Amino acid sequence: MSRVLIRNVSVLVVPEEGECRVDEAQDIYVQDDRIVAITPTGAPGAHDATGAPDARGAQDTRGAQGARGAQDATGTPDARGAEGARGAQDVSRAPGARGAEGARGAQDASRAPGAPGALGASEPPGEVIDGGGLLAVPGLVNSHTHSPMVMMRGAAEDLAIEDWFNRRIWPMEVNLTAERVRVGARLACAEMLLGGVTTFVDHYFHADQIAAAAIESGIRADLAPTFFSSAGQDAIDAAFETTRDLSTRHPRITASLGPHATYTVTDEDLRRTAGRARADGRRIHLHASETEDQTRASLEKHGVTPIQVLEQTGVLEAGALIAHGCGIREEDLPILERYADRTTVASCPKVYLKLAMGEVTPIKGLRSVGVDVGIGTDGAAVHNTLDVWEAIRMVALTQKQREHDAEWMTLSDTLRFATRGSAAAAGLKDQIGVLEPGRQADIALVDLSAPHNQPIHDARAALVYSVRASDVVTVLVAGQVVVRDRQLTTMDLTEVLAEAKDLAHTLVDLSQGGAVQHYAP
Ligand SMILES: [Zn+2]
Repeated sequence: MSRVLIRNVSVLVVPEEGECRVDEAQDIYVQDDRIVAITPTGAPGAHDATGAPDARGAQDTRGAQGARGAQDATGTPDARGAEGARGAQDVSRAPGARGAEGARGAQDASRAPGAPGALGASEPPGEVIDGGGLLAVPGLVNSHTHSPMVMMRGAAEDLAIEDWFNRRIWPMEVNLTAERVRVGARLACAEMLLGGVTTFVDHYFHADQIAAAAIESGIRADLAPTFFSSAGQDAIDAAFETTRDLSTRHPRITASLGPHATYTVTDEDLRRTAGRARADGRRIHLHASETEDQTRASLEKHGVTPIQVLEQTGVLEAGALIAHGCGIREEDLPILERYADRTTVASCPKVYLKLAMGEVTPIKGLRSVGVDVGIGTDGAAVHNTLDVWEAIRMVALTQKQREHDAEWMTLSDTLRFATRGSAAAAGLKDQIGVLEPGRQADIALVDLSAPHNQPIHDARAALVYSVRASDVVTVLVAGQVVVRDRQLTTMDLTEVLAEAKDLAHTLVDLSQGGAVQHYAP
């Protein structure tokens, strides 16, 4: 059993409806992979009830730096070092700190009769993280990406979508090998964790290698092995088997079926995928209605929209995560409404702007029929980063612009899509996305003390419009500290960067000729 206490931290609260808020001076108790309690700092009884880290052997990772943990008088997470009206908790004096028997009585959980998860004598010590001056947010979710494409960052610029696929990306993907994918996925996991991303929803080739990188790094992932109909039935069967295999590998790994798109996978193969999804109880993650051009082409060639294709082939019935959906039309909404309990859409607006796709995801329409929407980056071959903060900001900006309504996509709406919406897109609606007892302990601690965030009038505005990935200090996934004081605890970043640099040129080499697919929706 492992136990972590995050002491004296501000906590972002995201209700299902209404305004998000920040609760100050909270203690977050984590046991094994879950949050077991969130209580006002120093509230009596919390230790007894939760078996949280106690005096015996608890390690404060930062040392006792009380002053750094101050809250200012307005209660917003403030510049470190300010000794505010509320007064900083000196962790050396706090209940549960190393070697100190606090005034309120640091109960040893192993001696507290009936305490759930009482600590046995042989258990390892808990860890106390000083959260003073920091804001705890639900770990971010990258709800649609192709993580190993970080290896192609900056290698396909200033191109329209046809040329981006046909002249760069699909010819480059001829070069994919298991090793190159693994190296790219390791770099991607490092980038995401350091930026507070605790879950990514991936769609790519050699997904077993991506799983290995995710398991090693400590991040959570839902992985969909990509396939095209052009690769043949054996390749599709192999992708199905990979999905099945990945779903049993690790508690942090889930798997989905990954047909590439409605325009690269035949209706017959989509039908077969839907049948497999229903039989195995899995979701289907795919690209559909990415642009209005794709919707128009589908209507001209087949007389139906891509969303109608998804319905006719049973994909919606099985349950789908639809990437982008910028070409979803009004008449598609009643169809999606019928499957709203199992349909989610991921929006990645930086990509739509960069490829000049003309439209962004119609989030307002999708929400009006009850479809959950998450936020993602898509691959770094077009997004250039896996920075979900950047994606969140882009959603707020592009949605206001799309609706010509500055009062739509408020701070609270945006944060709700980024947390609850993206958790739904990951297929983990009841597990992650909110900081509350019973949920997985996927937590990012953000330091808002840098000049670009100060002064703080509304911490929610900082999260949506000014925070940077580099403001993330500490990250937990499933209760494990995977980033501590801006350093990965699970991987050697120097090595990760060196191996990516060594191999990157082999991926973008176009001398092989050929392509894995041709874009002609
Ligand atoms: Zn994509």
